[in-house]
Amino acid sequence: MDLGISGKRALVTASSKGLGRGCAEALAEAGVDLVLNARGEEALSATAQAIRDAHGVEVTVLAADIVSEEGRAAVLEAAGQVDILVTNAGGPPPGVWSDWSRDDFIAALEANMLTPIALMQAMLPGMMEKGWGRVVNITSQSVKAPIPALGLSNSARAGLTGFVAGTSRQVAQHGVTINNLLPGAHDTDRIDALDRAAADTQGTSLEDVRAAKFKTIPVRRYGTAAEFGRTCAFLCSQHAGYIVGQNILADGGGINATL
Ligand code: NAP
Repeated sequence: MDLGISGKRALVTASSKGLGRGCAEALAEAGVDLVLNARGEEALSATAQAIRDAHGVEVTVLAADIVSEEGRAAVLEAAGQVDILVTNAGGPPPGVWSDWSRDDFIAALEANMLTPIALMQAMLPGMMEKGWGRVVNITSQSVKAPIPALGLSNSARAGLTGFVAGTSRQVAQHGVTINNLLPGAHDTDRIDALDRAAADTQGTSLEDVRAAKFKTIPVRRYGTAAEFGRTCAFLCSQHAGYIVGQNILADGGGINATL
């Protein structure tokens, strides 16, 4: 399917690896020029080159912490106005509800609520002026059903979800859609780190932790960054112009709910 977005420009933050990279690759496959960001320069440059080689699109990179005000300003300056914004940042650390301090909550809010909101506030006016724009925020299945060890994520992402619910309905009349894409367990460095932490806590092996988790997912496996990325690219496509303010789960059926 032609997604109808060839020649457009996208900013994908936190995109040298994992789900962000998956989104960047799928957009590049659709002919979209990219601005990519991550903190680590080496992996970022390698990802950018791999995407240029595979898809022949223009890829600009800016190594910076997207959660810091200075980092974000540098990324926004490098990007200029884009047509498509995919927001992403690292997820908060796991833990227990009684352990988290005010500072822990502030850090989670900065990364997983206030950073995507600041990025949207920077890009939405230009998109509205042009009469076309797409925003996809990578959030989490924790928005639909809380993950006990990820209370910081459960909390911060709920705030972002509320902002998107209200804002998406105000900008849609200008041809701009905002949606959230909610990953369940996907095979990335992040899930590997969480599984290793769980194996340590439970005194079991990584393989046993993964096997136990697969049993809870109807498709019996983790998702891939490639399938997640193509779902994101569809939401950024011309065809998705009537999808507004939605929270779309990509979780292999893991959340057992009728709606
Ligand atoms: P990942 O494999 O660890 O990749 C994270 C990417 O983000 C890397 O490119 C990393 O590069 C970059 N990054 C992290 N913090 C950054 C920052 N402050 N500024 C700029 N770049 C940053 O993670 P992932 O699995 O793709 O997860 C992406 C998001 O989805 C996270 O918020 C995660 O909580 C959420 N999520 C993931 C899953 C899953 O199963 N994978 C499930 C639910 C939710 P640098 O380290 O070099 O900066």
